[in-house]
Amino acid sequence: MRVYNFSAGPSMLPLEVLEQVKKDFTDYNGTGMSVCEMSHRSKPYEEIHNTSISLLRELMGISDDYYVLYLQGGATLQFEAVPLNLLKKGKADYIVTGNFANNAFKVAKKYGDIVCAASSEDKTYTYIPKNVKVREDIDYLHITSNNTIFGTQYNELPKSKAPIVCDMSSNILGKRYNVNDFGLIYAGAQKNISASGLTVVIVKKDLVDSGATEACPNFLKYSTQANANSLYNTPTTFSIYVSMLVFKWLKNLGGVDAMEKINIEKAKMLYDFIDNSKLYKNNVAKEDRSIMNVPFVTGDENLDAKFIKEAAAAGLVSIKGHRLVGGMRASIYNAMPIEGIKALIEFMKKFEKENI
Ligand SMILES: *Cc1c(COP(=O)(O)O)cnc(C)c1O
Repeated sequence: MRVYNFSAGPSMLPLEVLEQVKKDFTDYNGTGMSVCEMSHRSKPYEEIHNTSISLLRELMGISDDYYVLYLQGGATLQFEAVPLNLLKKGKADYIVTGNFANNAFKVAKKYGDIVCAASSEDKTYTYIPKNVKVREDIDYLHITSNNTIFGTQYNELPKSKAPIVCDMSSNILGKRYNVNDFGLIYAGAQKNISASGLTVVIVKKDLVDSGATEACPNFLKYSTQANANSLYNTPTTFSIYVSMLVFKWLKNLGGVDAMEKINIEKAKMLYDFIDNSKLYKNNVAKEDRSIMNVPFVTGDENLDAKFIKEAAAAGLVSIKGHRLVGGMRASIYNAMPIEGIKALIEFMKKFEKENI
């Protein structure tokens, strides 16, 4: 039996995609071999690779002014690759809206004059700072579009003369952003794109073609991978193949705009229920609530633990909140069907009745 998996990542994939993977697993498209066994220099793999990239371009509306790179090392390696590539004047500003944003900020400090332009740490990251003043002579401004642990998201981007670099790991393809508003977008694949392993980087060509910093290792230079169509060395072939299937699934569903509508509906159902309940509470500023990650608490740690245990027994798994926040967190990425939200709400109603 499949469960509704509310994990923050790796997270659910569409069942259709998994079924297709199963079908293809031992013999991909008449090749007599699995994608796992396939040379990354072979024709069938090349087609998977290029189809995935062109579908992503189509879904996100990525123009020819940008490179799409398929890398490894997760968003975490990008925390360092970004400054190593882009800090040519040696200055960048960061808006710290959560744990991952803070991690990105902290490691970047090693590489230059890095300033925290604004932070929402004063209220445990329950809001997005507005009207942030950013220095003008910086190489870039770094933001995190969706804060996976605390459950906030950017609806309006900050104003910046310098390019905006965005960690979009947890809401890429779940909400429409205009790629042209960014200098660089990066995302680990394991939330809305694929299995873990793949890291997507979408970067403006002029930022890459003007060279990296002296200190940047050759392997981490975006130009290295851009010049090789992300085949400089062996890429995460299987994860890229799964991404292609996910992109086809998303395209069939109507693309990012259709997906965002569904995501808003899913999130609204859950937030409305929480706001109207006596037992559950979400502490995030309403206008900044994430449509991907919905943290909530009962206010009683023992009751939270009971909730998590009983939810799992009812087939609603991995709903425990991050250790920094406690309580529960329902991660409801693109692949979480609306039925999963309904099942969760039904369970929450029953639990409330039994425990209030
Ligand atoms: C999950 C996540 C990360 C960490 O990604 P890795 O791929 O594990 O390095 C970083 N930033 C955000 C916003 C995330 O949601």
